[in-house]
Amino acid sequence: MADVLLEVEDATKTYHSRGETTAALKGVSLVVDESPATIACIAGESGSGKTTLANSILGFTQLTSGTISYRGTNIATLTRSQQLEYRRDVQAVFQDPFGVYNPFYRIRRLFDVLIKRFRLAQSKAEARELIEEALNVVGIRGEEVLDKNPHQLSGGQRQRIMMARAYLLKPRLIVADEPVSMVDASLRAMILDVMLRLRDERGISFLYITHDLSTAYQIGDDIYILYGGELIEQGRAQEVIENPQHEYAKLLIGSIPVPDPSIRWNREPHSQAG
Ligand code: ADP
Ligand code: MG
Repeated sequence: MADVLLEVEDATKTYHSRGETTAALKGVSLVVDESPATIACIAGESGSGKTTLANSILGFTQLTSGTISYRGTNIATLTRSQQLEYRRDVQAVFQDPFGVYNPFYRIRRLFDVLIKRFRLAQSKAEARELIEEALNVVGIRGEEVLDKNPHQLSGGQRQRIMMARAYLLKPRLIVADEPVSMVDASLRAMILDVMLRLRDERGISFLYITHDLSTAYQIGDDIYILYGGELIEQGRAQEVIENPQHEYAKLLIGSIPVPDPSIRWNREPHSQAG
């Protein structure tokens, strides 16, 4: 039997804001295996609850009910040292990662902060080596980027740097929320390839969140399709996409004509970053 890295059980999240109640997740359960390392895709159109699920796993959002377990322990009950380990083992890559960073800081700082926080290196030389190794994994040389500011980099460089930054900690799981929806096709292919290599060569599992089923088909091992906060279909990614069972999944996958022009799959407002 495969080792379970992350297990979400019956996750429900209800938001209350300005007198309105939104059920963003309704009883969602899923499993991400550790070995073999797995790319589990969460797919669904805008508003289906994908980011809420990612944020719950990353600890940015509390579930209303249900549990998230990491290697068999409910993350709500982790001790302080287990929390630190979890924050190291589970990294995030977002759609527009630099939205949250100070534009005046150099790229080097993104790495230095982590090296300090997690005490990854004993010396400056060791730190430099770690950073260089992480950048190499995504096909970038340090001298190209480290002394630049975020705005001096292309979207593809930024996204690869975020992947390198996540890799620096040698995580077990990377939660990637729409990591390629803001980059062009050739960079998308490069980033997806990095994910495959991290899975195969470094044993890192992914929760890959996307509204684009073609990329889920390309790199996904498992897929979970969300619709209105509900899990409507799950299975091996290629099987599900080739032969969806649920009516809405069929609609999304395009195997039957779309009757309502407002329902479109390959489109998501970019204001949803993070
Ligand atoms: P996705 O990432 O699939 O686009 P989200 O998880 O961002 O979906 O959103 C799911 C639902 O929850 C949407 O209806 C959204 O408007 C709502 N929602 C998300 N975050 C909040 C919040 N902080 N407060 C209130 N409602 C929210
Ligand atoms: Mg989202």
